[in-house]
Amino acid sequence: MSEGTIFDKIIQREIPANIVYEDEFALAFEDINPQAPTHLLIIPKQRIATCNDIEKDQRELVGHLFWVAGEIARREGFAEAGYRTVMNCNDNGGQTVYHIHVHLLAGKALGWPPY
Ligand code: IMP
Repeated sequence: MSEGTIFDKIIQREIPANIVYEDEFALAFEDINPQAPTHLLIIPKQRIATCNDIEKDQRELVGHLFWVAGEIARREGFAEAGYRTVMNCNDNGGQTVYHIHVHLLAGKALGWPPY
């Protein structure tokens, strides 16, 4: 696998981030360029470059990221109002950081389709 990304530096606390959730497997922090009133990124501590690189034995880990999204939504009080989770893959998906992440967007009624 190619070398790590800026998200590894956030995991290692080498660069600052507004971390809102952490456990053994995952970290969630505020996106530096928010696209909604709440825009968080939920990442696995273990680097997986893209959705194409998820191995069969990592299915539980990836599912955990979505459990974390719901847990944050419940804790922050926007679960009932609703929110969006997005994972972008490669160029056409708009992926810019090659360490998989779930975008968690909330705080307003979001438009669809996303273009
Ligand atoms: P992608 O385009 O789906 O790969 O999403 C990458 C996201 O990471 C973008 O929404 C960026 O704004 C965000 N991002 C990039 N660098 C940082 C950082 O240092 N801290 C927090 N968010 C970042």
